[in-house]
Amino acid sequence: MADHVETGTKTLRRENKLAQQVSGDICVVGAGSAGISAALEAARLGRKVILVDGLPTLGGQMVNSIIGTFCGLFANGTHGIQFTYGMAEDMLRDLEKVPGMIYRRHGPVTTVVYYDEVAVGRWTEEAVRKAGITVVLGAVLRNVNMDGRRVKSIDLATRYGDMTISATGFVDASGDATLTWLAGLPCRESANRQVHGTQMVVLENIVEDKHPERTELTARMTEKAKQYNLKRTSPVSFVIPGRGIAVLNMTHTDTPLEPLAAARSQLEGKAQADIAVDFLRKEYPECFGNSRVRAYGNPGIRQTRWIVGRHQLTIDEVRNGTHFEDSVARTAWPVELHDSDKGYVWQTFPEDHVHYIPLGSLTPADADNIVAAGRCIDADLAALSSVRVMGPCIAMGAAAAQALDLAGSGSVHQIDLNSLKKRVHDNIERKDGQQKREMTKEDMRHMSEAHR
Ligand SMILES: Cc1cc2nc3c(=O)[nH]c(=O)nc-3n(C[C@H](O)[C@H](O)[C@H](O)COP(=O)(O)OP(=O)(O)OC[C@H]3O[C@@H](n4cnc5c(N)ncnc54)[C@H](O)[C@@H]3O)c2cc1C
Repeated sequence: MADHVETGTKTLRRENKLAQQVSGDICVVGAGSAGISAALEAARLGRKVILVDGLPTLGGQMVNSIIGTFCGLFANGTHGIQFTYGMAEDMLRDLEKVPGMIYRRHGPVTTVVYYDEVAVGRWTEEAVRKAGITVVLGAVLRNVNMDGRRVKSIDLATRYGDMTISATGFVDASGDATLTWLAGLPCRESANRQVHGTQMVVLENIVEDKHPERTELTARMTEKAKQYNLKRTSPVSFVIPGRGIAVLNMTHTDTPLEPLAAARSQLEGKAQADIAVDFLRKEYPECFGNSRVRAYGNPGIRQTRWIVGRHQLTIDEVRNGTHFEDSVARTAWPVELHDSDKGYVWQTFPEDHVHYIPLGSLTPADADNIVAAGRCIDADLAALSSVRVMGPCIAMGAAAAQALDLAGSGSVHQIDLNSLKKRVHDNIERKDGQQKREMTKEDMRHMSEAHR
């Protein structure tokens, strides 16, 4: 062991007040499911990619809000047709190799993929690192500099100083259409009713086989709402088998686009979540009596502000399964609109249903080099609720990268649609199903061992 202890220090003053300049081919703002997919796809196309997020970590809500399940990735029913490939295919293939990280559950209508958010977070970080993407984290978008119909550069504030990023094309995967909004372009919000967010909570040390059925839970919450001061009475609590963990989606919070109100709502969301946990412990002691809160996610935000695109996807187009000349993503996820305090609208589709998202809904009409992806594309309130889940978000991210790659220094409104069609073929046409696979006892044992 050395005796010497270094004591040297040096004194300095801030000298350079200029923003750090970085440039690339495609800059993606927002590193959630849509933005990560866009960045990986653009890197695969050989583009120099810069990926920016205001959070200090990658993964957006997929990782940091602990959403816990991928929805909208598969067709309805049990034939297992996968709708979205690219990043989704890579991630499922890699994580399904590790016992207990991910599994598919085919419900009576929908198929969802449960995931371990830590594993998905690390998969994402490694995929981005290996793809050679330049990552700028903890960087809040402050300003968008336009040159006619093109975004020339964006200004960011980070805790380590300001930055300016120039690129040929930009993906708005911010969830709140922040890039489009700051570019001065028109955006939409809900006209009459706000769409609620949710504070997700992970409870550990539950007794899995005593978990109440959803109908029973809903009835009890409705009956006891006043007693416990529960605001929402349409709970979703799902067990991650083999781990003694339940993921709770039991609150409805406001998600305003105003800093003070947003911060207040975050604290209120956690207080509401604690009330829900108290309710579970007291009403179902055999399942939740010894449970502990393992984690609160970052505030879960569903629908806030979104772009005005060349095309607004409508609920009729969703219900009719309208296929567009420029379709770039598909899903069969139900209408899932959280626009009332107590409950939410849940309208499912038949087994063979598919609805599509056109490039027109991703592209603001007055800009040549912005493509939106994820939960801020143009749709009416109800239609958006059926396409903002992560399966189609991943497909939209890939399509945004492809469209900007085809546009180069030209306009995304003038790309060759036949070329685009070929590039997004798998996410629109591919129909190979995978065998229905339920969780086996062996899987559960692995899942439990993997988390010891
Ligand atoms: C409670 C809840 C439960 C849900 N359940 C499911 C489910 O089970 N399955 C499912 O598939 N989907 C579910 N969804 C929907 C889904 O999670 C989201 O719609 C989806 O994750 C959106 O992905 P995104 O990439 O568009 O946006 P986000 O994941 O929100 O990513 C946007 C990113 O942009 C960054 N950003 C925003 N503004 C700025 C700025 N000014 N500067 C820099 N960065 C910025 C944010 O930090 C964020 O990381 C749920 C949503 C909620 C809220």
